[in-house]
Amino acid sequence: MSNADIPQLTQRTTDFLARGKHAMLIGGQWVASSSGQTLEVTNPADESLLGSVPAATEGDVDSAVRAARQAFESPAWAKMRPDQRQRLLLRLADLVEEHARTLAEIESLDNGKSVVIAEHVDVALVASYFRYMAGWATKIEGSTLDVSIPFAPQNEFVGYTRKEPVGVVGAIVAWNFPLLLAAWKLGPALATGCTVVLKPAEQTPLSALYLGQLIQEAGFPDGVVNVVTGDGPSAGAPLTRHPGVNKLTFTGSTEIGKLIGKAAMDNMTRITLELGGKSPVIVLEDCDPAVAAAGASQAIYFNQGQVCCAGSRLYVHKKNFDRVVADLADHAKALKIGHGMDPATQLGPLVSREQMDRVCSYIDIGRQQGAEVVAGGARAGSLGYFVQPTVLAKVDQKARVVQEEIFGPVVVAMPYDDLDEVAALANDTPFGLGASIWSNDLSRVHRLIPKIKSGTVWVNCHNMLDPALPFGGYKQSGFGKEMGRAALDAYLEQKSVLMMV
Ligand code: ADP
Repeated sequence: MSNADIPQLTQRTTDFLARGKHAMLIGGQWVASSSGQTLEVTNPADESLLGSVPAATEGDVDSAVRAARQAFESPAWAKMRPDQRQRLLLRLADLVEEHARTLAEIESLDNGKSVVIAEHVDVALVASYFRYMAGWATKIEGSTLDVSIPFAPQNEFVGYTRKEPVGVVGAIVAWNFPLLLAAWKLGPALATGCTVVLKPAEQTPLSALYLGQLIQEAGFPDGVVNVVTGDGPSAGAPLTRHPGVNKLTFTGSTEIGKLIGKAAMDNMTRITLELGGKSPVIVLEDCDPAVAAAGASQAIYFNQGQVCCAGSRLYVHKKNFDRVVADLADHAKALKIGHGMDPATQLGPLVSREQMDRVCSYIDIGRQQGAEVVAGGARAGSLGYFVQPTVLAKVDQKARVVQEEIFGPVVVAMPYDDLDEVAALANDTPFGLGASIWSNDLSRVHRLIPKIKSGTVWVNCHNMLDPALPFGGYKQSGFGKEMGRAALDAYLEQKSVLMMV
């Protein structure tokens, strides 16, 4: 796509990008890094410079945590009625919708993803999630209990529990769904009355800064949400170590998640970790091969495969294996690769040169370990971070490309023989985030679901998320749940009250 073909940006996007040097949000003020240092932000489709953001220092992170603490204790937030928090979240959802196109454009330019997907999936889910969580603000409840204390039979008691916001939340997110991941943290934090220091990924900080403006416009008191930009070691790590943070919530790689988990333990900071995956797509014997191939294509290539629950391992019953793999390869070859701002684009660039190189090196490792490259297998073009949608077949279950998360448009396909075998293969990685089963054979499907060790099992679909449905990993895919009522509890402490009357 030439620059002339890029659809015109909204005035709001143009104005936002025209700032060039962006500021971060601490205590209601837009500020530079105390060191004056900045990080460049690039467009992965053409490697052009989109602007720069402050490179926050440990001192800046400390200021943000202090601002969040002050806001947490301020009457403006601490004494705000639940229905007022609900209203603010609803107002924020309205603003997200009003600015949907701009948010989508910023997301597309910064991350590389399709602007159409960004608007109709990412931004739409953000608005829907804020509304869902707004509803919970007025429904946080404890319980009353009749107690039977054996050593005080003469006395009467009133016992009850109350839920209280956990406090200051440190939220660190990855670059694959920058705005949506931020919303997954902000929604329950704000519904429960917490305050937040949000650190977006250094590759994709812009939409979080734009959202910061909308949060201010919605009327949240200063300091309730702070956005600090910077890289992992300089800005993320100090947040994880900070004793003033009561809860950490992280979405990113399992490797960094483990570091954050260890840091959290030092201060007994509450923690939610949403980490990597190697999710299987399991095609049962009865499934129409054409349906399976289309489903498998969507499961892996959506968002360029940069999805924690991407269907990156395909297990097809041996009867249909060759047919499904051939059809999937046709799908892969037909996908239109291009600039995320081109509405016709089906596969955009990966987020960064580093990620592109990492994905290409995994393809090479796959080849070296005996995989047959049925489609793709290399970088696409020479400008921008594009990788061809790739299908690797006949791979050994122990091969690195089967066991490790690649986080790109690469699927490994393997045949299997029976249900127990495929359940064992599906479970045979360190991860357990998602899985999909493709079949209309109800009894087989129901026999398989309990055997799969993963936080989500989809049937005849993949990568489908809803605000009401808890999402999170088994095994090394994480700790705790995002979304649904379960997410709310992760932002609440439970206090028991016992009163002698
Ligand atoms: P990926 O491997 O997909 O790039 P990471 O897990 O490295 O994802 O990063 C996800 C988020 O974690 C980013 O915001 C990043 O800056 C942050 N991060 C990276 N390293 C650390 C660290 N040591 N401590 C805290 N946050 C970190």
